[in-house]
Amino acid sequence: MDIFKLDGKVALVTGGNSGIGLAYAKGLVKAGARVAIWGRNSEKNTAAVESLQALGGDTAAFVCDITEQAQVDDAFAATVSHFDQVDICFANAGGGGPRGMLHQISDADWQGVLDLNLNSVVYTYRKVIAHLLERKAPGKLIVTSSVAGLMGMGYASGYATTKAAVLGLTRALAVELGRNNIQVNAILPGYVETEMSIKTPPVFKEAVLRRSVTGQFGTLEQMEGIAVFLASSASDFMTGQNIVLDGGHTVHPM
Ligand code: NAD
Repeated sequence: MDIFKLDGKVALVTGGNSGIGLAYAKGLVKAGARVAIWGRNSEKNTAAVESLQALGGDTAAFVCDITEQAQVDDAFAATVSHFDQVDICFANAGGGGPRGMLHQISDADWQGVLDLNLNSVVYTYRKVIAHLLERKAPGKLIVTSSVAGLMGMGYASGYATTKAAVLGLTRALAVELGRNNIQVNAILPGYVETEMSIKTPPVFKEAVLRRSVTGQFGTLEQMEGIAVFLASSASDFMTGQNIVLDGGHTVHPM
């Protein structure tokens, strides 16, 4: 259907060399977008680009540590130099942060999770927003939050705090950018098996499965469609929203 077509659009996906980011990138390529992925590991970047090109995608990868504004600036310049434009941005890269009770978490670990899951989004969005406004172009900004941003995720307070913070950022930017035809939304996945989530303790995974209305974890393939919807004109009247994809985990009463 044409409303989901992304021909002529360029999408940037941070953390696009793995897991949920690579799934988004696959959906975007299938819908016709050209896709830039950012990641720290050049071997993983190359493998991801090859898998996207196998789907027929015009794709390139750029090495970037998103916790450093200077690296984000350089990667953004390289992305625009390669593709001429960026229309859609998935601020997706992130990680679990420190585990344990708050009073046991060091300053360095706390700062680390803020940099990885919150400040990195600001660093990336700044560049994309300035670029879109300069071009007077419509745009789509999407952040990967988590159901941890809504629920009480004890012993992972840094993760829960940062995933909630990006929801506030999403709403604020939706207001700031609404008249510029730039929509800003957040995807909140439940548990999806990836390199990050596989490290979670078995007891946590069992609890998630018990609370899943579908009785299943999410799959990477199930992340593709939401990326296309939020990147495409199909979602032009949706902004500032939390899109929860969790197999009903957060509505389960028990
Ligand atoms: P993943 O480990 O497969 O992917 C994480 C990606 O982020 C990788 O591409 C990694 O290279 C990149 N990354 C990490 N630190 C980076 C840095 N400093 N600079 C640049 N890139 C960096 O894990 P995933 O599960 O696909 O995670 C993607 C996003 O989804 C994260 O924001 C995560 O919090 C979120 N999420 C995951 C789940 C889940 O169950 N897997 C649930 C909710 C939200």
